[in-house]
Amino acid sequence: MDDKVELLQRRLERERLARKQAEMIIEEKSRELYYKNQELERAVKAEHLARKEADLLRQSLEAFTSKLDIDEIASQLKSILMQLVPHDHSAVYLFKGGVLAPCGQAQGSDKGGDGATVCTPSLSPNGARPSARPIIIPNAQNDPQAKPWGVHPDSETLMVVHLFAPGRVVGCLILESRQADAFTPTAARLAQAIANEASIAFENSLLYREVERLSALDALTGINNRRQFDLLANVEFQMDLDHFKRVNDTHGHSVGDKVLVAVADVCRRALRTEDILARYGGEEFCFVLPQTDAKGAHAFAERIRIAIEGLAFDSNGRAFSVTASFGVSERIAEDDSPGSILERSDQALYEAKGGGRNRVVIWKPPEPQIEALPQAK
Ligand code: GH3
Ligand code: MG
Ligand code: MG
Repeated sequence: MDDKVELLQRRLERERLARKQAEMIIEEKSRELYYKNQELERAVKAEHLARKEADLLRQSLEAFTSKLDIDEIASQLKSILMQLVPHDHSAVYLFKGGVLAPCGQAQGSDKGGDGATVCTPSLSPNGARPSARPIIIPNAQNDPQAKPWGVHPDSETLMVVHLFAPGRVVGCLILESRQADAFTPTAARLAQAIANEASIAFENSLLYREVERLSALDALTGINNRRQFDLLANVEFQMDLDHFKRVNDTHGHSVGDKVLVAVADVCRRALRTEDILARYGGEEFCFVLPQTDAKGAHAFAERIRIAIEGLAFDSNGRAFSVTASFGVSERIAEDDSPGSILERSDQALYEAKGGGRNRVVIWKPPEPQIEALPQAK
């Protein structure tokens, strides 16, 4: 009987051990499953994030191509970066006359655009590519490289991303973070990819501005051309060089060109900020003086006339000078269209030419014709 009980007890013990082992295996397997599940979840999340980033990137690139305003492009660039590359402060700088100037609207986390310009020894507008990859400065408060960017007092890390146009650097993008080691290599690559797209948009915008500016300016003298003048028209007086054909015939066309440039220069220097000057034809110039009456315009024209007369030219050792005639016309209430103001100043100019040239004539309405009364017989 005792033997039987002992046998039973041993069997029970074996079964208990086997069950415990099975439980341990189950526990281990479910732990494995749990980790696998977590891994899968992470992979799904990463996939979602990558898809979201790709979507945002695509949308942002599309948004760039539709924009031509530099500040709009800069703001767009900042808002895209805000979503894709975590940071605390950002700024976009573009070269203007060889100096980096901030652009774009100030945003929540923005470094702002206080109009201050910064000169950075590491960036040159026409120089070789300083770096095709972003420069990450980890110890931003103490690193002298970070200093020219006016680092925010709470920033730990700074990233400089260059904006490249074919063959040159057009500017740069600065991202700052309060965290140490904030910018991972992936974040840097992404920032550069976005900046490259923005650079194309910046370059297009700069080209567009240049074309617009050039289409308003006369190629030889650099002042407004006729098209631009017509847009602004509110004509007050015209100026025409006297016997200019003779200058060309005597000294050659290139000397004539130099005279035109010098005369345009005299005119330009005489202008106040509100005045407008245009080269209207070959050796004809027009002026709009919005805050002057005919008397003031006459005095102004007289000053220019004397200055032109005083210019001394030299052609192969032969000294010569030039003169100009002027026709002034004030706006008149009865007929103030640009066309008729111009026509009146043209009439006054014609009179100045007929009267002996090198003079200023103000347009006057024709004297009323009084018919002579028939003689009493
Ligand atoms: P007037 O006193 O009556 O105005 O005589 P003018 O010789 O100045 O007038 P005209 O209209 O007979 O001749 C104008 C000359 O201006 C002829 C043309 O060759 C010259 N001209 C026009 N545009 C240019 C230019 O861009 N460069 C040069 N060098 N000459 C020009
Ligand atoms: Mg002429
Ligand atoms: Mg002339």
